[in-house]
Amino acid sequence: MRLFDAHCHFDFPEFDERRDQVLAGARAQGVNGLVMPGVRCPDWGRLASLSKPEVGLWYCLGIHPWFVGEHGEEDLESLEAALEKRDPGCLAVGECGLDGLRGSIDGQKPWFAAQVQMAARMDLPLVVHSVKAHDQVAALLRSERWDGRALIHGFSGSYQQACHFIELGCYIGVGGVITHARSKKTRDVVARLPSDTLVLETDAPDMSPAGVAKGQNSPEYIPDILAQLAQLRGEPKERLAEVVLENASTLYGRPADVLAPN
Ligand SMILES: [Zn+2]
Repeated sequence: MRLFDAHCHFDFPEFDERRDQVLAGARAQGVNGLVMPGVRCPDWGRLASLSKPEVGLWYCLGIHPWFVGEHGEEDLESLEAALEKRDPGCLAVGECGLDGLRGSIDGQKPWFAAQVQMAARMDLPLVVHSVKAHDQVAALLRSERWDGRALIHGFSGSYQQACHFIELGCYIGVGGVITHARSKKTRDVVARLPSDTLVLETDAPDMSPAGVAKGQNSPEYIPDILAQLAQLRGEPKERLAEVVLENASTLYGRPADVLAPN
């Protein structure tokens, strides 16, 4: 089985002491690639230097809604310039979006809109952080006439909200949340959505699956998320693994064997 982690903060310092071991552990379980989202301007250089497409280490460039306050207008210009001269490891714009639990949505909106416009101009996919803001995120994508590919990462919302995103061309990111019995709503949603709309992700080091200590999440847990998803959907794991990898391949615009090389 060939697996892929569509959203993992593998550049974060939490992995500094154990990055090679984690990567080897993940590969040993068939997790042959991952995408590291960009969250703030000072980290972009680190992402580019950690990226290694030949071993499935990819990245995105963007400004996360939690960190908009640390940035100025000129950083959007730097983002655009960095995206224009991106190397082959850079696959998408993000992670950008809206978060109703942290900061002000109105303050975050111009940053999100600017990144949506950049992705559209450069014909790049978009990696979206949407927390307690699904309706506002969908409204913004609609008002910007978004018609590209996007990932709504770590989705946790209603079935109807997921369907709105899918109508807008988005994929739904399925992570460790579904391994927790208390996440009944999200489990029900991912069990019902069409399989060609789902991708697997860990969002590591955060979003620990059941039984994993806070901050200890890693791409090694992708097989657990797959197993849980397959069980919820009543589908064989092997087949589902192929479908979700194909979805990640379409989302990020690289053939599956390039995205997650053996
Ligand atoms: Zn993230």
